[in-house]
Amino acid sequence: MIDQAREILRSTFGYDAFRGEQEGAIAAILGGRDAVVLMPTGGGKSLCYQIPPLVTQGCALVISPLIALMQDQVTALEQLGIAGACLNSSMSPSAQARVTAQLRAGELRLLYIAPERLLQENTLAMLRNADITLIAVDEAHCVSQWGHDFRSDYLELGRLRAAFPGVPRVALTATADERTRADIATRLELEQPAWFVGGFDRPNIRYTVRPRANAREQLARFLSGHKDSAGIVYCMSRRKVEQTADWLCAQGFNALPYHAGLGAETRRDHQHRFVRDDGLIMVATIAFGMGIDKPDVRFVAHLDLPKSVEAYYQETGRAGRDGDPAEAWMVYGLEDVVRLRQMLEESSSGEEHKRVERHKLDALLGWCEAITCRRQPLLEYFGERHSEACGNCDNCVEPPKTWNATEDAQKLLSCMYRTEQRFGAAHVIDVLRGANTDKVRQHRHTEVSTYGIGANQTVQHWRSILRQLMVRGAVFADIEGFGALKFGPDARAILRGDVEMFLREDIAESRKTRQRASSVQVAPEEQDLWDQLRACRKRLADEQGVPPYVIFHDRTLRDMLSLRPASLADMLEVSGVGQAKLERYGQAFLDELRTL
Ligand code: ADP
Ligand code: ZN
Repeated sequence: MIDQAREILRSTFGYDAFRGEQEGAIAAILGGRDAVVLMPTGGGKSLCYQIPPLVTQGCALVISPLIALMQDQVTALEQLGIAGACLNSSMSPSAQARVTAQLRAGELRLLYIAPERLLQENTLAMLRNADITLIAVDEAHCVSQWGHDFRSDYLELGRLRAAFPGVPRVALTATADERTRADIATRLELEQPAWFVGGFDRPNIRYTVRPRANAREQLARFLSGHKDSAGIVYCMSRRKVEQTADWLCAQGFNALPYHAGLGAETRRDHQHRFVRDDGLIMVATIAFGMGIDKPDVRFVAHLDLPKSVEAYYQETGRAGRDGDPAEAWMVYGLEDVVRLRQMLEESSSGEEHKRVERHKLDALLGWCEAITCRRQPLLEYFGERHSEACGNCDNCVEPPKTWNATEDAQKLLSCMYRTEQRFGAAHVIDVLRGANTDKVRQHRHTEVSTYGIGANQTVQHWRSILRQLMVRGAVFADIEGFGALKFGPDARAILRGDVEMFLREDIAESRKTRQRASSVQVAPEEQDLWDQLRACRKRLADEQGVPPYVIFHDRTLRDMLSLRPASLADMLEVSGVGQAKLERYGQAFLDELRTL
């Protein structure tokens, strides 16, 4: 049967080989076993349940909490010539009746359904009369109270075991957490499931963290390496979202805002355009992203630090689901450290909770300041060890220099000491640099011995040191003291010269020489043809009202560029071109390729 599965992979999906754990999972399912599939976003989970019903000619029930995505999935299947449908309460009764009839006639290979709908008695009764050969529980981590997406309906899914005896069930998720894994198997009452655990690495995503100097300029420079690409720019506040989107538009970028303060209509419209148009930038709060499975998001940029490493990994994971090069880029500065620590301390949650949150924040800050490969600690955080540096993060591509900052750190600390640890960063740095401000004069800080001893260095330089001292815990901003900088436990040892401080030399954005964008899609001489193929795809997509990637992924278009098929038979060699798409679109793209 696995040979049949391979043939379907080729003829229907247009792919040559299974990826990672796909083959094992499909074999187990076809052998009638329950299974748990853990793969990162973009790993190819859906094929694991889409192929078995095509082999058995039965129907797979796919349980998913994201009703908004179901129709997209069905549309994508339709393009592949696979009979799929969804059943949810937002559909008209006649549409629902049609699906039921198709199901009874044995015409459907995949039926997407929300858990609350599935568990209604009449739905279950209807399904028991159909030829259900597989039950797939997508987003299976929703069953766990440990995770952040817990859904009580998911707890009921254990009942499926008795309702569909002997029908294999497969649970799929991209969440790695140990406790969640255990919960999935027990809560869903899987019977000795076969486990398929793919790594959580997203090797096509390049991680970059830059010290914030002028965030907008830095962003514009970053975006200039991503012309015509779709991406997300995350900001903390609604106001900043609006301002950043306006600014980007004024700079000639194609950007839209998204946050919870916009009307439902506007949000829907902006999300729709992000999915349908090529190369739109969404400037958003974290309200945006859940339930977006656009595969060709080429970058995720953060203008503010996220809350934790998990949040960061989830948000950046929205880039590059199609496996093509993508970037996770972030600017980060002293303000983030102060702001996030402050928010945490001021929150009303209990001390125990705060301790956990503090720990999480420290892990993230430490990660930002890392001078070695960023991927290794990121994956380690999720329990995965990688002994080699990745070669695809900023620290690997351009190893940061460190310098002996002991003396400057001492200057800064002693300036805090001389001003009695009563002032915030801006003032301490003013005193260090010998600034002549009202506040300096008012407090007679021209008279302290550290006045002006740091005049030879920029504000940026001092802020960089201060930021790193704060991350190390040598300095903290006292919330009750209106943000005054105070000595942490390590400060005195540094001041006495007992420890040396080696700090990261912040890389200025202008040192761009080796910082080529990792996601340049095609060679310059192929740009015209590439644009032409994309325009063709967009035209075909618009005619049917579907997103362009549903027609073909970028990778397929790129494969066309390199293979230059001259006939329909050649076209079948292109990755992502199966029988149904060949018939629908093969000729149109051949015509484009022929015009040059
Ligand atoms: P997930 O659900 O795990 O996030 P998907 O199932 O959406 O991932 O797959 C991600 C992308 O990878 C899709 O565009 C899919 O067509 C593609 N893909 C999956 N399996 C293969 C394969 N064996 N060969 C090539 N591409 C694949
Ligand atoms: Zn690396």
